[in-house]
Amino acid sequence: MSAKFEISFSKSAKLNGGLAILLKTIDADSPAGAETVDPAGVIAKAARIARFSAKSMSALDIVAPEGASVERIVVIGLGKAGLTTHDWLKAGGTAAARIKNTDKAAVFIDVPALETSAREAADFALGMLLRAYSFDTYKTKKGDDEEKPAKSVKVTIVTADPAAAKKAFADSEAIAGGVNLARDLVNEPPNVLGPVEFAAKAKELEKLGVEVEILTEKEMRRLGMGALLGVAQGSVRPPRLAVMQWKGGKGKDRPIAFIGKGVVFDTGGISIKPAAGMEDMKGDMGGAAAVTGLMHVLASRNAAVNAIGIIGLVENMPDGNAQRPGDIVTSMSGQTIEVINTDAEGRLVLCDALWYCNDRFNPRFMINLATLTGAIVVALGNVHAGLFSNDDQLSAQLTAAGLSTNEKLWRMPLGKDYDKLIDSKFADMKNSGGRQAGSITAAHFLKRFVQDTPWAHLDIAGTAMGSPQDEINQSWGSGFGVRLLDELVRAHYEA
Ligand code: MN
Ligand code: ZN
Repeated sequence: MSAKFEISFSKSAKLNGGLAILLKTIDADSPAGAETVDPAGVIAKAARIARFSAKSMSALDIVAPEGASVERIVVIGLGKAGLTTHDWLKAGGTAAARIKNTDKAAVFIDVPALETSAREAADFALGMLLRAYSFDTYKTKKGDDEEKPAKSVKVTIVTADPAAAKKAFADSEAIAGGVNLARDLVNEPPNVLGPVEFAAKAKELEKLGVEVEILTEKEMRRLGMGALLGVAQGSVRPPRLAVMQWKGGKGKDRPIAFIGKGVVFDTGGISIKPAAGMEDMKGDMGGAAAVTGLMHVLASRNAAVNAIGIIGLVENMPDGNAQRPGDIVTSMSGQTIEVINTDAEGRLVLCDALWYCNDRFNPRFMINLATLTGAIVVALGNVHAGLFSNDDQLSAQLTAAGLSTNEKLWRMPLGKDYDKLIDSKFADMKNSGGRQAGSITAAHFLKRFVQDTPWAHLDIAGTAMGSPQDEINQSWGSGFGVRLLDELVRAHYEA
């Protein structure tokens, strides 16, 4: 983390130097707060000269005149009235990017003609926190990059009902904490974050009241998780399965469950990947990172729900002891799998994690997240994540949640004709159906391990990392899925 914002809410700001940020829609004559910071009317003049029209997420940067109560004024355009939740986040991110070379800033959030609610003020603040994230743990020269103010900045958000905004902001802080945790986990280098180290990070959620068990190789062996263990056997680092339980609901309520693929590094194994870009495979644990980040959010905001998070943590390496194409492994379900391609390892990890979850917890639904296939990146780029589901209602809820948080999902088909592509000559199934419909056959593989439980699989290979930077994300590891799933829980599964 570099720029740290200490955010507070107030009805008015005591201005004495520093920066003032004002918001303006196209239709408003002047932004809120103008009368306070700009008695001389320089904003109108500067806007005219710069042809600033308050287009969405545009900004006008003004050096305040002599005698003004602040040093600089930034006006941020919001476009036309009718802002969505995501617009408020983007506005916060845009504002955060403008806060530099100062240690204090006042933001006037109540735009004329918009009735800004406490929730929207908190969303704006969330946008600031998400934008402020950067991963520079391993940079020894901090430099004087002006995007990275070294110390913390006191930000006062000026709004009509500061008490209500502060209350709503507690949730924003919980969400930012979870998203930024997921980003950290994805960004960490693979030599630092192995399965054991990742499990230790999950264990830290105990501080928030999450119950965390870590299953070792021996315990997984006893449970018969031959598919997951087959992937791990080529690595000198032992696998782990972390089981996180948040019990915020009523004791008797069945839990909802989230399962994540946590391949801390994926070389492809014996079916080794080409060298170019292989370093990105440190992010092959993006699903596990999102699940861990989500559990962090649910516990931090004391969500009224019983939720399980299970992450399968392994490293996929080539080795004298690595599994071979042609090997047949027996999963915890008893179903046998012919390993056709050792690079199709994520599904081997998930199938045992899904079966274990269903068997032990009898959850209301299971949602798994995984950077599962390159094929989903070919199909959807890094705009949508792939959604596969056996349940129309869960599917619709997920899609709607994704539209609200701008973590977009696109539902892909399933069907018998695809399913048969993973039938095997020698075992119950094979772990790869070949190039055609690669994301769909991967989903069908998982589906064979969920029985009748409502289930959804999110293939986040195109969105968990390396997606384009935007107003609220400048990080390689995006934290995709955390806000989406929190929104799903909030909208449908809390008492
Ligand atoms: Mn792979
Ligand atoms: Zn993988």
